[in-house]
Amino acid sequence: MSVIHLLPESVANQIAAGEVIQRPASVIKELVENSIDAGATSVQVNVRDAGRTLIQVIDNGCGMSETDARLSFERHATSKIAQALDLYKLRTMGFRGEALASIAAVAQVELLTRREEDELGVRIVISASKIETQEPVSTAKGTQFAVKNLFFNLPARRNFLKSDNVEMRHVTSEFLRVALAHPSISLTLTSNGVTVYDLRGGNVKKRVSDVAGKSLTKNLVPINVETGIVTITGFIGNVAAARKSNSDEYFFVNERYMRSGYFHKAVADAYKNVIPSDQNPTYYIYMSVPPETVDVNVHPQKTEMKFESESAIWHILGTAVSDCLDKFGIVPMLDFDTTDSIDIPTFNANQQLDPSQLTFLNPGAQNVYNPFEHETPKSSFSSSFSSATKGNYNPSMPLQPRLTGLEDVTEETSTSTLPNFTLPPSSTPLMQLQSKYILCPMETGLLMVDQHRAHERIQYELLRKQVSVDKLPSQRLIFPELITMTAEDACILNEMQVELERVGMEYNYDEEAGQLAVSGVTPYIETAEVRAILESLIYDITNGEADIRNNIQEHIVRIIAAHAAIPYGRKLSHEEMYKILEQLFATEAPAMSLGGKAIFSFFTPNF
Ligand code: ADP
Ligand code: MG
Repeated sequence: MSVIHLLPESVANQIAAGEVIQRPASVIKELVENSIDAGATSVQVNVRDAGRTLIQVIDNGCGMSETDARLSFERHATSKIAQALDLYKLRTMGFRGEALASIAAVAQVELLTRREEDELGVRIVISASKIETQEPVSTAKGTQFAVKNLFFNLPARRNFLKSDNVEMRHVTSEFLRVALAHPSISLTLTSNGVTVYDLRGGNVKKRVSDVAGKSLTKNLVPINVETGIVTITGFIGNVAAARKSNSDEYFFVNERYMRSGYFHKAVADAYKNVIPSDQNPTYYIYMSVPPETVDVNVHPQKTEMKFESESAIWHILGTAVSDCLDKFGIVPMLDFDTTDSIDIPTFNANQQLDPSQLTFLNPGAQNVYNPFEHETPKSSFSSSFSSATKGNYNPSMPLQPRLTGLEDVTEETSTSTLPNFTLPPSSTPLMQLQSKYILCPMETGLLMVDQHRAHERIQYELLRKQVSVDKLPSQRLIFPELITMTAEDACILNEMQVELERVGMEYNYDEEAGQLAVSGVTPYIETAEVRAILESLIYDITNGEADIRNNIQEHIVRIIAAHAAIPYGRKLSHEEMYKILEQLFATEAPAMSLGGKAIFSFFTPNF
């Protein structure tokens, strides 16, 4: 007897479903695209429990006859192509004829549909590929799908789903992609009965601005280029629209959302000297190419595509973005990078210090600004280099500490231990160089400390200690800080609500307004920093490694410390400088910054 046998259709469908249907969001994508192919002008999407228990898609499209309704659940059943050649002139979203078969294999599905010309419609209930009911029904023109208990028959797949917050994020991002790709169609999304999006049909401009929100829209400029190979339209962001997260990067090709690292590079290159290197441009770029020059059948979810003139389009796109930035006067920002890229220069014996760059402070000068409330004991420092890594957590940091600027110290001690020198008395004159470095003469040489990195380390240890015992105090804001935010990003924040409350952050998200209202902030940070802190967090969570998720509290403390630290450019009084030195050398790891860079250099005369 042969050992090879054909799989039952229901098993084959389950296998196909593995590729097409990964989570509630994939069901929404397939069903909404079907509605659009059916000529619907209005589509309503409702989910319960992030789509886990119910996904409903209701359209006013052409509907199906009784026979077609039944056939639609068969694998490779499609009304959209008839022969292989048709694949090269696709105008529809679907064409594989496997979405409905796949969905019906892994859920309980109810379909109600009626064509305009039919008096009665049809109702079909199908569960794990088995038809359970088929009956005439009176129903509105169009089609309604209800997909219940996704993966009910595949416990492993069901358990693989993430928290409701995460799944809801996928749902909204899938919804937004379809919505942006089809601006003329009215679309609504509700979650557990609450409206998340209610988008009226219109042109691209209206759809982009409805999705992006007011504050982002005012930072977008139109892009428009027509060539024989490709037509590019849409909107791109100016400097203020740049984000740490990459959630606002969209390519659409022939009304289909496309994911493409390759084309992203063309856009990112054009923005290279315009926005900071750790930020991403915002763009909503619509490309249109003759259908026969693009292949969408290279990926089960149809989000990747192959182009006949890939490299030509790449160049056209890059030039179009550059020209657009020029045209709207979006020019390189000056000095935007200094706080990130600064490195303490190593000592160069031939280099003369420019006296005009030195701020010489009178030790007795009046203390104008004192960021510290916590006294630390005066300390001598004999920290070992290895202690620089102690308690350090940074998933992106190389294991080997990068002690730039410490070469001189290493040379002098040649052991792995710092020289055991004591901080001179507080009456010792200190200098501030370029509003960035604190210079302190020592018995054996000159100590040069990066003010921001040092203070960040101090704040970090202080905050970490406090958070380990109790909540940080929260200061109520008289006027809540309003931050425009997508529902997806708000979902991410909700996942960390406990940890954020622990650091004194109080907030509420208003889904309708798309705004986060921050009502309480720890006094360690300026209210103006809140937005940047939350954006960094969202970015790190979406792009970070598992380590961040497992240690969110630690990560939040790090971000707050970075924002609570004295910035470069701030002039410091003698007392402030001395206090920074004292506190720095009382920390567990005074040598290395949170980002793995040197906090200080020590120079000994060698002439
Ligand atoms: P595909 O979209 O690749 O053709 P599907 O499995 O998604 O395959 O759908 C199978 C067929 O069912 C479609 O070709 C279409 O004829 C029909 N169909 C699906 N959804 C709808 C809808 N909302 N309105 C009308 N017809 C639909
Ligand atoms: Mg389809």
